[in-house]
Amino acid sequence: MIKQGKIVIIGASNVGSAILNKITDFQLASEIALIDLNEDKAAGEALDASHATSCIYSTNINVHAGTYEDCQDAAIIIITAGPSIRPGETPDRLILAKTNTKIMGSIMTEIMKYTKEAMIIAITNPLDVATHYISTHFDYPREKIVGTGTMLETFRFRRILANHYHVDPKNIHGYILGEHGNSAFPAWSTVNIAGMPLEHLDDCFNFSDKIDYKAIEDEIVQVAYDIINLKGWTNTGISMVACRFIKSIIYDEHTILPMSAVLEGEYGLHDVALSIPRMLCAEGVVKSFEVKLTDKERQLLLTSADSVKNALNGCK
Ligand code: NAD
Repeated sequence: MIKQGKIVIIGASNVGSAILNKITDFQLASEIALIDLNEDKAAGEALDASHATSCIYSTNINVHAGTYEDCQDAAIIIITAGPSIRPGETPDRLILAKTNTKIMGSIMTEIMKYTKEAMIIAITNPLDVATHYISTHFDYPREKIVGTGTMLETFRFRRILANHYHVDPKNIHGYILGEHGNSAFPAWSTVNIAGMPLEHLDDCFNFSDKIDYKAIEDEIVQVAYDIINLKGWTNTGISMVACRFIKSIIYDEHTILPMSAVLEGEYGLHDVALSIPRMLCAEGVVKSFEVKLTDKERQLLLTSADSVKNALNGCK
């Protein structure tokens, strides 16, 4: 039987350990099992996080290193295993496709021995290739697999716009869509700040410094590589994204966020995973939304689809 508060994290390095710590801090689980090929790393991270649970600000969460048997009664499984782009490497997550689909294959084979019930949150890059691979190569319920996709770019976008207008990023609405990667794009037609539409923002905020769309589009993609080149990896933003997804699932929130799953005819696209707005709740991804896009935005979505499909073909 599923333990509603149990989460398994696979991959215990920069991303996995950051997610572990954020879940612990936000008290989003009663038990967390950490799995990594590097068993010492998983054991060390779990031990360290377990000590934090003694504090008055914490909940008595059972944090421990685990095995795939832990998936048997897990409510949520988060996959972060597999290498990332390193500082100085080609700035394109798609170069990880071959290596990381192999890793995803071996992990899914293990998970399938124990469960088909847990919600799986994919984080490993290239995110859309990984999400497509585990959704189509395994007999796992499709609605229970979701990739975090362009939620991270959307957080970045909100921060960049918030800095420009000196406003709370939570007042900024709108989506980054497409590939979690170099072809991600802001769907500007979906953007508003507290109900004020894009074309009126500079006037509403009395800004003489006009917004530079192209610079923002470039920054959303480039900033991930800037972080990697500056600190060696990215993990803090994505750990908050993971917690946002977990919260939607455990509180059955029916939240609409940009997230990746295999498209089933939306925008005329099939057999490729990309981020569009989708609804997440306890049952999984229950609805996808074909929000109205401009012709240019539709074209950018097709470009993203081509980019991810090329990477998928390269893995065959
Ligand atoms: P990392 O290279 O530091 O760690 C990868 C970990 O995976 C290692 O601990 C390794 O031992 C483990 N691993 C490899 N194969 C495994 C297997 N078969 N089973 C279990 N564990 C295995 O990478 P990182 O910085 O922690 O990043 C992890 C992944 O997350 C990368 O693919 C990275 O690109 C991705 N990422 C995604 C997002 C996103 O928005 N989706 C954001 C940041 C990072």
